[in-house]
Amino acid sequence: MSHVLVLVDAPEGEVRKSTLELLTLARRFGRPAAVVLQAADPAAVEQLGRYGAETVYVVDDPAARDFLVAPTVDALARVAGGLLKSGDLAGVLTGSSPDAKDVAARLAVRLGSGVVTDAVNVEAGDDGRPVAVQSAFAASYVVRSRFPAGVPVIAVKPNAVTPEEAPVEPAVEQVQISFTDLGKGARITSRTPREASGRPELTDASVVVAGGRGLGGAEAFALIERVADQLGAAVGASRAAVDAGWYPHSHQIGQTGKTVSPQLYLAAGISGAIQHRAGMQTSKTVVVVNKDPDAPIFELSDFGVVGDLHAVLPQFSQEIDRRRS
Ligand code: FAD
Repeated sequence: MSHVLVLVDAPEGEVRKSTLELLTLARRFGRPAAVVLQAADPAAVEQLGRYGAETVYVVDDPAARDFLVAPTVDALARVAGGLLKSGDLAGVLTGSSPDAKDVAARLAVRLGSGVVTDAVNVEAGDDGRPVAVQSAFAASYVVRSRFPAGVPVIAVKPNAVTPEEAPVEPAVEQVQISFTDLGKGARITSRTPREASGRPELTDASVVVAGGRGLGGAEAFALIERVADQLGAAVGASRAAVDAGWYPHSHQIGQTGKTVSPQLYLAAGISGAIQHRAGMQTSKTVVVVNKDPDAPIFELSDFGVVGDLHAVLPQFSQEIDRRRS
């Protein structure tokens, strides 16, 4: 089997769960190899090997971190080009953040290949080549795409699969690159770390509890936060709640907010406007609390409660406590 390159997401050196998911998916149609754009932290290399990365390519050049996505594309294209020469590249997997999708699209152009973004799964086709699975139009359609030519480049959403260990002793290869001036066109001048909330990162979280205008005020987000903390979940909000100043924009889910794809999405007091669905429609299980039985969000829900969230959510919390005690 040929190699599958996985672009590692490891802010501050810590490999994110989404990368381990990509390594797990890569094993379905090839031999995973990880591309790391920073110094090779031994713990990170060990972790990548534990999830099946046979080779870890390390591009330890500040340019890969100090500029926007172009140097990352240079680095991936260089490693991919080397493998392609020996006919040893089955595909490239990246995450699904805006930057990662940008990288995937640019890389596909460089490789003369196709790209699929927002994949919710990657399967091995009958011919052993990958089939990218997308969920479209509020999860009404499942789209399976094959790549008839070129190297498949697929940007995969978080929580597509549960990471599975497949330990190997990875070979570490340092890669030297001279980045093009064009690639250094936009420098990152500062970074502001996200304020630690103690909750998981919204876009990675496997459980999200979100509130909307139906909460009626900022203070009612305490109900959402309580359930979120009981479930180890991230907190999300509709745009109506954010625009009202009840919760920060960094938590907004939807077309003009973040895209989430958790195993469980609990929406309380959210009507389910198309722009909101755009950010959560690939959630695996959707639970809804809404007092209007005709609210469109019920079309997406697996379980729904028609009722006042101010009464339902506290009972929900009590029931979780009761079952855990
Ligand atoms: P509403 O639509 O007002 O729904 C509130 C719901 O709460 C209702 O269904 C109601 O029945 C229920 N409710 C009320 N009281 C209670 C109660 N006590 N208990 C239980 N249920 C109750 N929206 C986003 O969310 N994200 C986006 O990224 C986004 N981007 C947009 C981009 C554009 C260009 C545009 C035009 C719009 C965008 N919107 C976005 C806005 C979107 O169209 C909706 O207006 C918004 O999602 C509505 O938020 P909501 O569901 O919280 O509020």
